[in-house]
Amino acid sequence: MDHPQTTTIPVETLERFITAIFAAAGCGAEEAARITSHLLSANLTGHDSHGVIRVPRYVFWMGEGFVRAGQQISVISDTPTHALVDGNLGFGQSIGEQAVDLGIAKAKAAGLSVIALRNSGHLGRIGDWGERAGEAGLLSIHFVNVAGGELVAPFGGTSRRFSTNPICIAAPAEGGLLLLDFATSLVAEGKVLVASNGGKPVPHGALIDPDGTLTSDPRTLYGPIEGTHVRDAAQGAGALRAFGEHKGSGLAFMCEILAGCLSGGPTSGPIPGGKRRGIANAMLSIYLSPGAFGQEGFAQAARDYAAYVRDAHPATPGGEVLVPGEPERRMREARLAGGIPLQAETWAAILETGQKFGLSAPTS
Ligand code: NAD
Repeated sequence: MDHPQTTTIPVETLERFITAIFAAAGCGAEEAARITSHLLSANLTGHDSHGVIRVPRYVFWMGEGFVRAGQQISVISDTPTHALVDGNLGFGQSIGEQAVDLGIAKAKAAGLSVIALRNSGHLGRIGDWGERAGEAGLLSIHFVNVAGGELVAPFGGTSRRFSTNPICIAAPAEGGLLLLDFATSLVAEGKVLVASNGGKPVPHGALIDPDGTLTSDPRTLYGPIEGTHVRDAAQGAGALRAFGEHKGSGLAFMCEILAGCLSGGPTSGPIPGGKRRGIANAMLSIYLSPGAFGQEGFAQAARDYAAYVRDAHPATPGGEVLVPGEPERRMREARLAGGIPLQAETWAAILETGQKFGLSAPTS
């Protein structure tokens, strides 16, 4: 099957139902709404792998104590331009907002700031954090690692040594934020999951077997998948590959060094005590105020350069050149109007999670 069955749900319906799930699971009303809003932001921008598909997993993690409701960041060290903060394994949507707002406040006052965040619950779509800084008129750069979720082999190797470690760079420009935000793996794990369900295959070479053979076979990541719907990336013997050979692999490596080692948080690697738990994100974020560099006209200059790039001759007849952030902006407009398409299996799993708390399927 090339296109697994999808069902399109209006944004408000998803918003109400998922907020109710997190509230029923034990989050305060504000936090339930915050988590939902960030998950929806991923779907709205087209990054379904980081959207509401995560609801069952988040609720499971919460039940197991891998992620905690109602947490505040602890400030470990602090100067006017930097802070090291610990997320206490709170929901990444709450911890992320607190850490980013601290960075924004410092950069507004001092012209620039660096925040090292460790032990956060899943931070979701990192573009949300670039957008938050952009709304405050700041440039931002984010390096993220993922402890507890090794999936990716380093260049030249076949054993997993890091996760899909994302990088985000955001710059406010007139006409819309310029936003680069991607995982350093060739494809996101979610895409292998879709392929394993009969959806669009991943490109050849997105995965590597233990003997070094390049492949697109999801069993490399999940082990035998016939006759079961359960997909557990811990069961496969192979790995995802980083994009861009040594370059993407090098970026993923540096995410571990910058986000993991500098924050004193865990890097990828064996979990102390060998016990499997949820993942923890660490994030090193740099915030820059263009005004502090005397560049009051930055947003116009960035808009002009983006226009010059868009104006490049298209590589295919009728094609167009986009700048980072543009596909997301277009998708958001389309999905706000037309709803969010979900794989039937994804929607069924969300409904099932709601049922566990006595919530019946929404009718509107
Ligand atoms: P992707 O491969 O879709 O790349 C997205 C980026 O490429 C965006 O900046 C987009 O604007 C740009 N882009 C896409 N098409 C373009 C085009 N035609 N022209 C110009 N620019 C274009 O992203 P991905 O690697 O699948 O990552 C998906 C999401 O997963 C990201 O939001 C990332 O932050 C998130 N993520 C989070 C974690 C975590 O641990 N929290 C881990 C991995 C990924």
